[in-house]
Amino acid sequence: MAFEGLADRLQNTIQKIRGKGKVTEQDVKEMMREVRLALLEADVNFKVVKDFVKRVSERAVGQEVMKSLTPGQQVIKVVKEELTNLMGGEQSKIAVSNRPPTVIMMVGLQGAGKTTTTGKLANLLRKKNNRKPLLVAADIYRPAAIKQLETLGKQLSMPVFSLGDQVSPVEIAKQAIQKAKEDHHDYVLIDTAGRLHVDEALMDELKQVKEISQPDEIFLVVDAMTGQDAVNVAQSFNEQLGLTGVVLTKLDGDTRGGAALSVKAVTNTPIKFVGLGEKLDAIEAFHPERMASRILGMGDVLSLIEKAQDNVDQEKAKELEQKLKTMNFTFDDFLDQLGQVKKMGPLNEILGMLPGANKIKGLKDVQVDDKQIAHVEAIIQSMTRAERDNPDLINASRKKRIAKGSGRPIQEVNRLLKQFEDMKKMMKQMTNMSKGKGKKGGFK
Ligand code: GDP
Repeated sequence: MAFEGLADRLQNTIQKIRGKGKVTEQDVKEMMREVRLALLEADVNFKVVKDFVKRVSERAVGQEVMKSLTPGQQVIKVVKEELTNLMGGEQSKIAVSNRPPTVIMMVGLQGAGKTTTTGKLANLLRKKNNRKPLLVAADIYRPAAIKQLETLGKQLSMPVFSLGDQVSPVEIAKQAIQKAKEDHHDYVLIDTAGRLHVDEALMDELKQVKEISQPDEIFLVVDAMTGQDAVNVAQSFNEQLGLTGVVLTKLDGDTRGGAALSVKAVTNTPIKFVGLGEKLDAIEAFHPERMASRILGMGDVLSLIEKAQDNVDQEKAKELEQKLKTMNFTFDDFLDQLGQVKKMGPLNEILGMLPGANKIKGLKDVQVDDKQIAHVEAIIQSMTRAERDNPDLINASRKKRIAKGSGRPIQEVNRLLKQFEDMKKMMKQMTNMSKGKGKKGGFK
């Protein structure tokens, strides 16, 4: 996960101060020295680090903390608030023009993920906001860019406006907006040309496209893996074009996170979205507070709930709840559940959102293997209908048959049966508890 090193270090540092009933200036000083190192190591811009440390230190030795009953926790609260502010405070929303179409100009260097992000964003606008975007292929220099956008358009069943690579981007933008009005598109996403480096010719052209299309948003796409370079690129684009937002891509990779923490402070442009993979749904709105929470090991339960709401079939969830209550839960239901969890994304990512996940011993090193789910599925699929409904039927010879059918060792079959049994027991207890019959304690 991105930020892993930073998260580890910050969490170890704040852990030391958390439970303290009394926090001295010396304690704060020591903590801040470690925080400073952790941020620098994560490749956060050094001036940003300096300001951050200064702000947190001032507040931490101030009245609000020292006089409180739980100073240790108050310090952590200050760190979290300042980390949130650093990344932009409130989550910023995408503009809606009152004279449609809303025009979004996508800019960025080659390879940052601009074309992919254009597709992802259009997908998101349609899925979440019920919008009807038009994609515009105005990157006429990178040989494959137009084709790439057209392919994305096909995958999304979304129209792509293109005039080939012989017409100027300015003309393309102009005609595209005209076309969008005629066809009643409410959003126009212009995929502009990228270059390997920031250069004058590129900026001139982008300024002309901006002039003609009067965009409501100009989003710069930058690659989080490039660290401080991403911040420098953002700064030059912002000076020349006036950005309204940054999309930070490849946050699924092994980035140290410095860019995410510096972009807003250095360029005063908020990060609006983050890219988390190559697939067209691997994009999320950026929530500074949730990200701060994740970095400090407090989890990101809100994002987890949203992910579940987006992916889990609500009807099925209700049905399941009913089955749990009446204890009619079978292996078939279990199989269904696994399918729903899988839709939420790789297990590692999901676990990363749980509070304290990287503090759970061993969890970090265990590569939660999506293959294991496939094995469990294979075992269940090798059971007969009757066995799935009533696992008590599964005797030694049936176990052997299931193991053979699924290609898994018999111990694994045994383990799954045992887990299923335990799960049912646990549910029974929970249902009893919610009926008020249960004893106190047990589940947290
Ligand atoms: P462009 O030159 O800026 O238009 O870049 P592309 O859209 O062609 O993307 C360059 C490469 O980065 C492609 O292989 C994309 O699949 C990949 N990419 C884009 N966004 C992400 C992301 O968020 N995560 C990962 N892992 N790869 C990404």
